[in-house]
Amino acid sequence: MKIKIKNILLGCCLAASAMSYAQKEEAQPKNIILLIGDGMGLSQVSAAQFYGENKPNFERFNNIGLIKTSSAHQLVTDSAAGATAFACGIKSYNGAIGVDVDKNPVRNIVDYASNKGMATGLISTSSIVHATPASFFAHVDSRRKYPEIATYLPTSEVDFVAGGGLQFFDRREDGKDLIKTLKENGFEVTTEKLPSITSTKKQAILLADDAMPKMSENRGDFLPEATALALDHLSQNKNGFFLMVEGSQIDWGGHNNDADYLVSELIDFDKTIGVALDYAKKHKNTLVIVTADHETGGFTLAAEGTNYHKIKMEFSTGGHSATMIPVFAKGPGAEKFRGIYENNDIFTKMVSSLNKKEKNQPK
Ligand SMILES: [Zn+2]
Repeated sequence: MKIKIKNILLGCCLAASAMSYAQKEEAQPKNIILLIGDGMGLSQVSAAQFYGENKPNFERFNNIGLIKTSSAHQLVTDSAAGATAFACGIKSYNGAIGVDVDKNPVRNIVDYASNKGMATGLISTSSIVHATPASFFAHVDSRRKYPEIATYLPTSEVDFVAGGGLQFFDRREDGKDLIKTLKENGFEVTTEKLPSITSTKKQAILLADDAMPKMSENRGDFLPEATALALDHLSQNKNGFFLMVEGSQIDWGGHNNDADYLVSELIDFDKTIGVALDYAKKHKNTLVIVTADHETGGFTLAAEGTNYHKIKMEFSTGGHSATMIPVFAKGPGAEKFRGIYENNDIFTKMVSSLNKKEKNQPK
């Protein structure tokens, strides 16, 4: 009888320690993939359900939250302040790229991750110097200063970039040859097409002068394929990686009040989410977060008048709106992304995962 009790107690202890071990493990992702659908509010996400051919990848997430997106000075944020909140953890003014309200540079997640020995990557369907990706490597007081933003990339901690923006590197008014500077800083530069494999060198893949083409103009599978390539490249680092992937042109469909443009970009983004989730399924220590900087277009899926059998995609503005934005998370630490919180808490939650990693994981 005594032995039996002992066994039960021992069993409990083992179960408890296994659980606390599992919990510890759960809170420490090795890899973080942050996917940003620029301008993607809940109606945009819902469009994937009605207009996609397959079941949306959004439905594969089990932890959902909402963020409030106002910037430091404006009720309605722009992409620069929105991305700076994610990248640097602060609320700044609309137009700010990695700087605070006093225009001082603020350390970004790429630097935090790199400091922990992780590899880092940025992918965008806009120019790589556009507001969202720029906020992850540059510190400039205005999003419009594209040539200045570009000068930050060669010496940044970024190991992999893919997107457009070539003209800001190879055809500059100041005569600087930033392609040369990228190479001098250890980058392999690709400008023709997405390579199928990469070397161990840092990768700068700049495939368009400015933005990448629209889906309707034959961009093809650039975004999902670049994401797969980045995951392959960044996985070479045994300390893990941080990867940001932006579906930039969901926002532009919204600005243009062009529902077809919006939906085609959204479906492409959903497909890319699938690539990230499939990777995370194989590499369980990967945290995948999907969110947006703000909603664009005041987009709705309204019934067509009194006909409740039909949806009419409608817009209420050519600009952004202040509606709360969904956050989807899956993987170790994903529970942290539940609830309602400010957009800059996305940064705090990601960095707290990285900090735990340093404390608990033996070198
Ligand atoms: Zn916008």
